[in-house]
Amino acid sequence: MPVVAMVGGGQLARMTHQAAVALGQTLRVLAVDPTESAAQVSPDVVLGSHTDLDALRRVAKGATVLTFDHEHVPPEHLAELVADGVTVAPPPEALVHAQDKLLMRTKLAALGAPIPRFAEVTSAEVAQRFAAEAGGRAVIKTIRGGYDGRGVVLLDDPEQAHRVAAEYLADGVPIMIEERVAMRRELAALVARSTFGQGAAWPVVQTVQRDGICVEVLAPAPDLDEDTAAGAQQLGLRLAAELGVVGVLAVELFETVDGAILVNELAMRPHNSGHWTMDGSVTSQFEQHLRAVLDYPLGDTSARAPLVVMANVLGAAQTPQMSVDERVHHVFARMPDAKVHLYGKGERAGRKLGHVNLVAKPGEALDVVRERANRAAHWLSHAQWTDGYDEHEHNEHGTDN
Ligand code: ADP
Repeated sequence: MPVVAMVGGGQLARMTHQAAVALGQTLRVLAVDPTESAAQVSPDVVLGSHTDLDALRRVAKGATVLTFDHEHVPPEHLAELVADGVTVAPPPEALVHAQDKLLMRTKLAALGAPIPRFAEVTSAEVAQRFAAEAGGRAVIKTIRGGYDGRGVVLLDDPEQAHRVAAEYLADGVPIMIEERVAMRRELAALVARSTFGQGAAWPVVQTVQRDGICVEVLAPAPDLDEDTAAGAQQLGLRLAAELGVVGVLAVELFETVDGAILVNELAMRPHNSGHWTMDGSVTSQFEQHLRAVLDYPLGDTSARAPLVVMANVLGAAQTPQMSVDERVHHVFARMPDAKVHLYGKGERAGRKLGHVNLVAKPGEALDVVRERANRAAHWLSHAQWTDGYDEHEHNEHGTDN
């Protein structure tokens, strides 16, 4: 059987391993620590850092293909691996557009993809002038290394732009600035492209963010008009082809208040916006990523139901006394249809610990499914029911969902 090696031992690698098992494979993982999410479950773990070329060479040795659970591998190391003859998917020339936001914006502009107005920040004055021209509403972003909204500063006035830019530049951190988009909501177009060039797109979803972190995904995006949805899927497939992506590509989008679509971010790996596919689509994003990098024919991306909701389980400010085991017990007692995915990570405030998928029952309203998914996810991290339910007053096996 082929051996897929993945750089990074987080939850994305863990769930990719889960998909690999069904294909008769074992995912090989490069993890920093044996307690990491994927290192706990794969028997084929190489310990080492993604910034250490020697560790990268060890995990790639004998593997059919090397792929990623995050985008933080230095491009010069990837070039060395390619020179060694390692098959890297997505290839480094594609991946760099998910590593460098300025390069990504510049490339998307050249491809004619819709994006917010942007500029490289070479001085605090440049940032201030850009923000003034944007009516004060701008965003400063670190060009490299950000995730979950770290390295993104939303600005309200030009003086603030000057101040924030000056701080970053004084620390030697390369930054860019872009207009702060007046948006209706955030969407994501998730696609996959195989080595051979076959493409497949899942239904376009709505992502709900809090403090720069995705908390909820609605599949498909409610009330998105058909042309916009089809346009976003085509955009995703076109970008995957033009950039030469191999594997899953997530295109994070803004839907502006005028109904236009703008590209925010690219991720070339399984993505939080695609976790719903594990229970809600014929082919999950994790299986599809493996199929794409191994050049198998891609799987059917249809949804299994008209509506699927994913809610992230985010660590509570105060870790509850109740064990995770007991919390799972109670959530299953209340909601037999909740599909729980836990990542085996230690509990910490705001940390992504898992997610819950709910496939809507026939005729079940969006608000009802959302409330149930969020209630289950919140319970799993907080041991508190958002609807005030007290499990001690109820028969453990009585369900009321
Ligand atoms: P990261 O790569 O760290 O996840 P993103 O570029 O996706 O950072 O930005 C994180 C969040 O910040 C986005 O989901 C969005 O809510 C907000 N944001 C980013 N860029 C803009 C923008 N140009 N206008 C308005 N909001 C933005």
